[in-house]
Amino acid sequence: MSADGAVLEMREVSFAYPGNSSHLIVEQINLAIQPGEIVAVVGPSGCGKSTVLNLLAGFLTPTSGAVLMQGQPVVRPAPERAVIFQSDALFPWLTVRDNAAFGPACRGDRAQLAQMDDYLTLVGLERFAGYHPAQLSVGMRQRAELARVLVNHGPVLLLDEPFSALDVQTREAMQELLLDVHARLRPAVLIVTHDPEEAIFLADRVVVMGPVPSRFIESVAISLPRPRTAAMRDSTAVLEVRRHLRALLRASTAGRQASWRAMLPQ
Ligand code: ADP
Ligand code: MG
Repeated sequence: MSADGAVLEMREVSFAYPGNSSHLIVEQINLAIQPGEIVAVVGPSGCGKSTVLNLLAGFLTPTSGAVLMQGQPVVRPAPERAVIFQSDALFPWLTVRDNAAFGPACRGDRAQLAQMDDYLTLVGLERFAGYHPAQLSVGMRQRAELARVLVNHGPVLLLDEPFSALDVQTREAMQELLLDVHARLRPAVLIVTHDPEEAIFLADRVVVMGPVPSRFIESVAISLPRPRTAAMRDSTAVLEVRRHLRALLRASTAGRQASWRAMLPQ
């Protein structure tokens, strides 16, 4: 088991894509996500955020170091580490209910199937269970995605820019839905986003990635109380953290490694 109780961990993980082994994308990354914790990863485009998420999910294997889930090496994707991407992975020929029930139906898990309607209600899609994905808005399709992964009861939820394709109002509503769902089911969540505001609103801790070969250059604890409310989005505390994250991201984007090093605590 993990020494510190982490549900999901990266230990000294370095990674280069096969065929380009001299080009490390991430270098000696350490991360320990506690049960029920929400961690946001922010960083400039191309810095390796999706690579980190795919390593945690088991889609990619570290070049060196290890990814551990509840102390066991992650060697392949598994339903207990559910993943949601920016665009949904729903089957267009299945209804919302059948999409959401696909995993349990394949496994013959009757207990999970019996709870299907509760999950559709949780994500606000109870009236749309019989619709097909093409009949839904992008935001509703992401709700269906959420139901599809939540029904697995996994201890970990991995989200890669899940709300980036949504307009501002829908995005904020989805962030609030994610927090509602988290408060009820308490999975550990890792969310990759390029949006510092989203990261601050959702997370207990925001991890900032530097340019490739990427490391985590800072971890910022977010001390906002829970439940988080829409009014907190414009609070002074949020604005201050946002300013700090933006400065780190600007320095990182410009590749001015010297300047972000100078900003780190000594
Ligand atoms: P982010 O999600 O932060 O935008 P990615 O993890 O997608 O970044 O990509 C990080 C780096 O890895 C980029 O330089 C990208 O070009 C490279 N990369 C991503 N996917 C592959 C791949 N399948 N093969 C080779 N290089 C890749
Ligand atoms: Mg990405």
